[in-house]
Amino acid sequence: LEFRFWGVRGSYPVARPHASRLGGNTPCVQVQAGGRQIIIDAGTGIRRLGQALMAGGACPPPISLLISHTHWDHIQGFPHFAPAYDARGHIAVWSLRRPQSLAGLFSGQQELDFFPVPLERLPCRLEFFDLQEGEAVDIGPVLVRARRLNHAGVTSGYRLQHEGGVLAYICDVAPSRDMLLADIDTRGDERRTLDRLFQNQLALADRAEVVIYDTFFTPEEYQERRHWGHSTAEDAVEVCRRAGARNLFLFHHNPDRPDEAAERLLESLRQRFQDADLAIHAAVEGQSWRIRPGEIERCE
Ligand SMILES: [Zn+2]
Ligand SMILES: [Zn+2]
Repeated sequence: LEFRFWGVRGSYPVARPHASRLGGNTPCVQVQAGGRQIIIDAGTGIRRLGQALMAGGACPPPISLLISHTHWDHIQGFPHFAPAYDARGHIAVWSLRRPQSLAGLFSGQQELDFFPVPLERLPCRLEFFDLQEGEAVDIGPVLVRARRLNHAGVTSGYRLQHEGGVLAYICDVAPSRDMLLADIDTRGDERRTLDRLFQNQLALADRAEVVIYDTFFTPEEYQERRHWGHSTAEDAVEVCRRAGARNLFLFHHNPDRPDEAAERLLESLRQRFQDADLAIHAAVEGQSWRIRPGEIERCE
């Protein structure tokens, strides 16, 4: 299983020099395994991915697009995704079942008031599929599971498994210790719902080679904005340690955090948690990695 970061920035794209090393595009991760193309989230990073998939006039490959949730930074790149404009293209969009249809939400952001090409006029074959929580779905040779996270509305993390290698994508997510943000009927027991959502994180990350995690906040920022629905790197380390995961990628970087600050944060985390059997990395736009059972290596 190989994966590449095309967008690593949270909330909105950043085009300023302070974010040029980690990258300024909003979330998009490409996963390739057994010849299948799986994309997680359609932030602005998906635009360049679409161009790369069709470089030299190539026929677009069949694509499975997993959507964590429909906050704008996770779907705003889709109207600019080149394979959607090719009649040979076939895009299957997946998400956890939600009250409004995913197709309707995608169509909404391409209504004529917002974008000149309505979703219905895209020439590709476009299909939408619901996932049930915890249900295992085969996308080619990759086993995919979605589980609910503590974030506004309906948000899911993903666990992708291929030949013993596991990648977990946990974004966007708030800690389970303070407040419930997910739209869930708790039947009066919020604490139990929060505990269940935390167990979901552990199940997604269970002995994963790679965990890609929403580390938008520093602990100080989190204290002031607990209701925003994001976590800190310390939260990510705790989940990875308890789940026995091997590599943590800090992701959904705060758009106001300059590269230097992100690099200092990474260095201090590596020093503080060097006893853990966990390697910590920062997700960098353009970097790709290969997962083998028990280890990962940088491709480029
Ligand atoms: Zn986000
Ligand atoms: Zn969000």
